[in-house]
Amino acid sequence: MDEKLIKRLMTSISCSVCGERYEGENVRVLGCYTDLWFLSVYCTKCHSQSLVAAVLKDGKHPELVTDLTEEEYTKFHEMAVVDADDVLDLHDFLEEFNGDFSSLFLKEKG
Ligand SMILES: [Zn+2]
Repeated sequence: MDEKLIKRLMTSISCSVCGERYEGENVRVLGCYTDLWFLSVYCTKCHSQSLVAAVLKDGKHPELVTDLTEEEYTKFHEMAVVDADDVLDLHDFLEEFNGDFSSLFLKEKG
C-alpha cells in the first residue's frame, strides 16, 4: 500500500463537518503501523483539519475509524490547528511505538 494510493482513496471521503470531498494534496500521511494508517486531512471549503485513522488492506475498501460526534467536531474545529511540531511528535512516537496499546495505557495510568 503506497502513499499515493492512500491519498487517492481519501479523495472518496467527505469532510465530516461540511461534506466537501477531500483533495489528495490536502491529505498528509503521518505514519502507519501494519494496516493502520494515521492521516491528517484538511478541508479547503470549511478549513477544518481532522485526524483520521484508517485501516487499509490491499484489495479491500478502506475502513475509517473515528468516534467523534458532530459536537466534538465543532469543538475541535474551534481549537488551535495542529502544527508541524505536533506532527513531528506523533511521528517520533509512532517510530518508537511497537503497537502494544495495553502497556501504553497501563503506563499512562501510572
Ligand atoms: Zn469541510
